Amino acid sequence: MNATCIDCTPSLSPRVPVSEPLAVLAARAACALEQSIQRCTLTSDQNLGHLEMQAAQDVQELLRAAMERGAQAKADATPPLCPVCQKKLTRLSATHPRTFESRYGSITVQRTRGYCKRCRKWRIPADTALGLAESAGYSPAVQEMAALLASKMPVADASAVLEHLTGVKMPRATLDREARRQGERAQAVRTELDQKAARQKPQLELTLEPYQLIIQMDAWNIRERDGWGQSATLRRQGQEPERWHWVYTGTVFRLDHRGHTAGGRPVISERGFVATRHGIDALREQLHAEALRRGLGQAAGALVIGDGAVWIWRLADDRFPHARQRLDFYHAVQHLASVGRALFGEAKEQYRAWLKPLIQQLKRGSSVKVVGQLEEALAQMPGGTAAQAVAKEVAYFQEHQARMDYRAGRRAGEPIGSGPVEATCRQTQCRFKRPGQFWSKRGDEALLCLEMFWRNDRWHLLFPHSSFSPARN
Ligand SMILES: [Zn+2]
Repeated sequence: MNATCIDCTPSLSPRVPVSEPLAVLAARAACALEQSIQRCTLTSDQNLGHLEMQAAQDVQELLRAAMERGAQAKADATPPLCPVCQKKLTRLSATHPRTFESRYGSITVQRTRGYCKRCRKWRIPADTALGLAESAGYSPAVQEMAALLASKMPVADASAVLEHLTGVKMPRATLDREARRQGERAQAVRTELDQKAARQKPQLELTLEPYQLIIQMDAWNIRERDGWGQSATLRRQGQEPERWHWVYTGTVFRLDHRGHTAGGRPVISERGFVATRHGIDALREQLHAEALRRGLGQAAGALVIGDGAVWIWRLADDRFPHARQRLDFYHAVQHLASVGRALFGEAKEQYRAWLKPLIQQLKRGSSVKVVGQLEEALAQMPGGTAAQAVAKEVAYFQEHQARMDYRAGRRAGEPIGSGPVEATCRQTQCRFKRPGQFWSKRGDEALLCLEMFWRNDRWHLLFPHSSFSPARN
């Protein structure tokens, strides 16, 4: 046992009065750590993991007290100015206590309250200085934990994982509420950032840089239960309750940021993400702002890639009128295959013999020739349902012919498919589309927004204390 030990039973009385100097608490923590080391050494069925968990407990009270001391010092040092308008507060009164959960346990701070004559509101400047918005019962670091966990996993899991890894107890419902509050704050920050990006005028003297900006869009479904329990009423009113809603998704990257790993896997070193449940108009504004932030204004050119969905091309015409457009190659192939099935039915050999060279021609040769061959095939059909199916596909190819410049795209080293945005959709669905999951419109947008801040490496804009960068890790 260490000779400087002053009290070797700290863990029996974890709540030491705050007035105790930190040095005393530190000495107690050191004693507890010495004991824990000894216990771990002497106990054959304990490994380093036991010591790691115990050590965190041994220093917990020291850290909690330090947080409380620090929060009080910060509150005391906060000038009595209105945090909204900066006017000096009047009718000051001290000792308004507030208790909240920190990373290391519950702490209480006494704050000064004052009246702002300009805002005509009571204000507590220390709350703003400490990063405690009015309704939060949690410190900024814990607010961040709730936001991150809930955007990555179901809240029931998040609550258990949080407690296991950090000791912070937050019931499911509270975690859900806290994460949604953070997500709504993120939405406000997003709107501000998007407006700022849109306001920035293109600089005329700016020389264009020789890169292409690639913009991809897609959509997937999310299941919601707004109007839960009202299905019968809605049906009586002649409305079918809608459960599935589109989440519009986009991604933006510079072509020169795309490369390959040593194993040949394609990687994009930097890219922007957008996902919203608020409809195509919302996607249009968010994606445009993201493209501006990712260098749309300086790009020598831009290229939009998507599947055949009409909304994609309308949005592209509207917001990216100078961008070239390309239909996702694999969607084009699927439509070729539909023509083949209509032409050859069960004759698999013939079907394959017909399809393969056409796919090659589409990829490496001329789309004009491919469309010509399809038109010819249609002209030779006698009519009926098969001909109708082929006619529909021919119309599809005619409509998208200008978007099928795959040969030129391949030669320029550009993507011919919308794989990156489809991968983004799949990854987001892993969180938002689990079996038995239902969302509310309000809740899913909030969490989607948090997830996009994380992916876009803008997490620090929501939580300035956090220097973690998902892109660097
Ligand atoms: Zn004010």
